[in-house]
Amino acid sequence: NKQVILRDYITGYPREDDLYISTSKIKLEVPQGSNAVLVKNLYLSCDPTMQFRMRKAEYRLSGYYYYVPGSPINGFGVAKVLDSGHPSFSAGDLVWGTTFWEEYSLIQNPEKLYKIQHTDVPLSYYTGILGMPGITAYAGIFEVGCVKKGECVFISAASGAVGQLTGQFAKLLGCYVVGSAGSQEKVDLLKNKLGFDDAFNYKEEVDLDAALKRYFPEGIDFYFEQVGGKMLDAVLLNMKDHGRIAICGMISQYNLPHPEALENLLHIAFKRLTVKGFSQRDHYHLYPKLLETVLPYIREHKLVYVEDIVEGLENGPAALVGLFSGRNFGKQLVKVASE
Ligand code: NDP
Repeated sequence: NKQVILRDYITGYPREDDLYISTSKIKLEVPQGSNAVLVKNLYLSCDPTMQFRMRKAEYRLSGYYYYVPGSPINGFGVAKVLDSGHPSFSAGDLVWGTTFWEEYSLIQNPEKLYKIQHTDVPLSYYTGILGMPGITAYAGIFEVGCVKKGECVFISAASGAVGQLTGQFAKLLGCYVVGSAGSQEKVDLLKNKLGFDDAFNYKEEVDLDAALKRYFPEGIDFYFEQVGGKMLDAVLLNMKDHGRIAICGMISQYNLPHPEALENLLHIAFKRLTVKGFSQRDHYHLYPKLLETVLPYIREHKLVYVEDIVEGLENGPAALVGLFSGRNFGKQLVKVASE
């Protein structure tokens, strides 16, 4: 059983060699009397917050569990059930949810596995649009942001797993949507394939405030925050009075020893802004609504979901750390095996 193992806890940017590949033996059956589920992993999801779980004790955030050095890391994935001691699952079921970075996993707590009911769409989508990033984007736009038709919406990290969906959801609502991303190719994707009204490469802007004024001369109604730091500081100068910010993540800050100081926080008060942080963990009740909304759009090709799939577990570590340099083009995932 090939596995991706954490070498040791880290500080700062994760590196490819913080993880290594190892092989162990696994019995391909669930032990008698156990309610575990044995799965064959098909796709594994690369998510920025996996860095949190690799951190040394002094840099940890409360509310997260931590990987164990010498053991396989875990995360979201899509898998096929090979054997089950749990009444909710049977051999042959396709599932998505929390699994381990290895070929086969014995999952002791299958409560975090969800049965896949719709298989006429790509199975890999259950790591993205039909999985955790889908719930995040749906919650961010519809429940946290309460985005309305006609609003001016700005999305950072717009071409990624969550960003590409939030932008398309806001477009479906009839908003004016602009995204930022870290390369010309990603900007072209946003404008030409994902239907954003406009987009810019934040790495090429010397003055982010001026860039935002160019795209939002009247100001921003709703900002979907995924990067933090200098971008957030510039956005605060460009929000409309009573604007709303949903804080989904702040990837630019995850690997810094101390978060960057912001200069423009007072604008939250001046402009009477609503700033709301949220976690996908609180929004699983929206999953049926997400499916009901996006499945028809996927089938009718009215929603596009761009994936960056690397083949083989051994290429997983590079794919995961690549999230922090923007190597991924769309949702980053690893194909481990075919069904
Ligand atoms: P993405 O697919 O967007 O991949 C990460 C992207 O972040 C990279 O491709 C890169 O794009 C951008 N990036 C990396 N480093 C920086 C930096 N220093 N400054 C600006 N941009 C950077 O990841 P996800 O869609 O999975 O996640 C996006 C954000 O949402 C993250 O902050 C993540 O933690 C958060 N999140 C929060 C959830 C929640 O429940 N609140 C759930 C899921 C995700 P580029 O080339 O454009 O720079």
